[in-house]
Order: sequence, then C-alpha cells, then structure tokens
Amino acid sequence: MASGNTVLMRLVASAYSIAQKAGMIVRRVIAEGDLGIVEKTCATDLQTKADRLAQMSICSSLARKFPKLTIIGEELVVWVDPLDGTKEYTEGLLDNVTVLIGIAYEGKAIAGVINQPYYNYEAGPDAVLGRTIWGVLGLGAFGFQLKEVPAGKHIITTTRSHSNKLVTDCVTAMNPDAVLQVGGAGNKIIQLIEGKASAYVFASPGCKKWDTCAPEVILHAVGGKLTDIHGNVLQYHKDVKHMNSAGVLATLRNYDYYASRVPESIKNALVP
Ligand code: AMP
Ligand code: MG
Ligand code: MG
Repeated sequence: MASGNTVLMRLVASAYSIAQKAGMIVRRVIAEGDLGIVEKTCATDLQTKADRLAQMSICSSLARKFPKLTIIGEELVVWVDPLDGTKEYTEGLLDNVTVLIGIAYEGKAIAGVINQPYYNYEAGPDAVLGRTIWGVLGLGAFGFQLKEVPAGKHIITTTRSHSNKLVTDCVTAMNPDAVLQVGGAGNKIIQLIEGKASAYVFASPGCKKWDTCAPEVILHAVGGKLTDIHGNVLQYHKDVKHMNSAGVLATLRNYDYYASRVPESIKNALVP
C-alpha cells in the first residue's frame, strides 16, 4: 500500500505540471490564430489543434514518467480531457476552458487536476494568466478559495452548447432563482466550489468519463457530490462505458433537494 500511495502522489504531482504545460499549449494555439477545427460527430462536437496537441503532450509526458502505467492500469486509470469546453474555445469564451486529468483507483475517482489556462484573462495585462486546481480524496482540494452560494438560493448551471428539451425541463423542475449556461464540465464544477452556482444539472447523454473524473474528485474532496441524474455514483474502471448516458447532477451542498426534484419522466428517459 505504501508504494501505491507513493505512485499516487508522484502521479498527482506530475499531473499538476503536465496539465499546466497543456494549458500553455491551449493558449499558444489561440495566440497563433489557426484553430484547425474539425467536426467530430456534429457541429457542436468539435476538436481543435489545441485538443490534439494538448492530448499528445499529456499522453507522451505520462508515458515517459510512468512507463509502467499500463501495468498499474489494472487498478489505476488516468482519464484525460486535454481541452474541456472546445465549443466555447472556438467562440472566444476562453475562461470556460479547462484541461482535466483524473485518476481512478479500482473504479473510484480519487485524485484530480484542473488547469484553467485563461483564468484571469479579463483582469488586464498585468494579471497572472491561468491556474491549477488539484485535489485528492480524503486530503482536500487546493488552488482556489471555497465559497458557497447564499443560503436558500437555487442557482443552476448547465450546458451552453449541448441543450435539448430534457436538459431544459430538468433545469426548470429545480425551481431555480437563476440559470447559468456555460461551457465545460470542469468550468461548471469550479462554479460550484467558488459559490457561483449551487447545482450542475445536465439531464442528457453527451458528457464523458474524462469530463467528470477530475472535477468529481475536486468536488468530493470539499464535501460535495456528483452522480448521474438517478443518483448513481459514477464508475471509472478501465472497461467502463465512456459516455455518462444518464447525465450529471452535482452540488456542493443540499444534494438531496436537487435530486428529489428530478422528474420521473426524465429519469425514465435516461438509461444509465
Ligand atoms: P457542456 O456542458 O455542453 O460544455 O458539456 C460538458 C462536456 O460534455 C464537454 O466536454 C462536451 O463536449 C461534452 N458534451 C456534452 N453534451 C455533448 C453532446 N451532445 N455531444 C458531444 N459532447 C457533449
Ligand atoms: Mg470535455
Ligand atoms: Mg475535450
């Protein structure tokens, strides 16, 4: 177990610097001006040169530092989203973008790193651009100031570019005081831990395990909860289905309030 913990801490420390480097690549591609956009499955499912270069950088760095990761991979699985919020990246909503590296042990998400390359980008030329948030379950989450939404306020954050009737019906059922539509799973979890939103509600397939692994750890490390729309805990072992078919429900506090308001018809429409 001691050696397992050592590997985990080395992996988290490496993921921190690897995510920072990927964040620099994400900034460089914008600065150079050619995004190299490719449509994957449809016009809202995009890939850019930054996705491709950041993915290559993360994977080659991990492989170099942890050549045995595939062997350890029976138990430790790393879930990588080199660029979360690609649609928003292509539209200049740069603070929506994150680099996500999540680490799972025996199917459970236990450590995560979120680099936000454009944090502070509207704060002027002297501001330090970018930040890295990281966390380990049972240890805590670092790199931000934990803040809660004012008590009694129901502020829902949801997708900006992948909405449909199920998504909007479920948000409405939460009886929200306000609704925020922003890009990125990482970005929405940051909103939860910084007191900008009280629940992330996404009643639709579309979001993948690499979108939720690192963000889920950060949220859980500070006492929050992320599940599918039925309340099922997500699994992250190597053979798990990539798609979060039954959506995402995440809160920092008062999870039960939001879970209790998901309509049965929406649950029936989303099979895990
Ligand atoms: P969003 O909240 O729309 O930014 O989605 C969070 C993550 O899930 C992003 O990585 C999206 O690319 C992904 N995602 C959600 N819905 C879809 C969809 N319908 N098609 C492709 N990707 C999706
Ligand atoms: Mg993503
Ligand atoms: Mg992505």
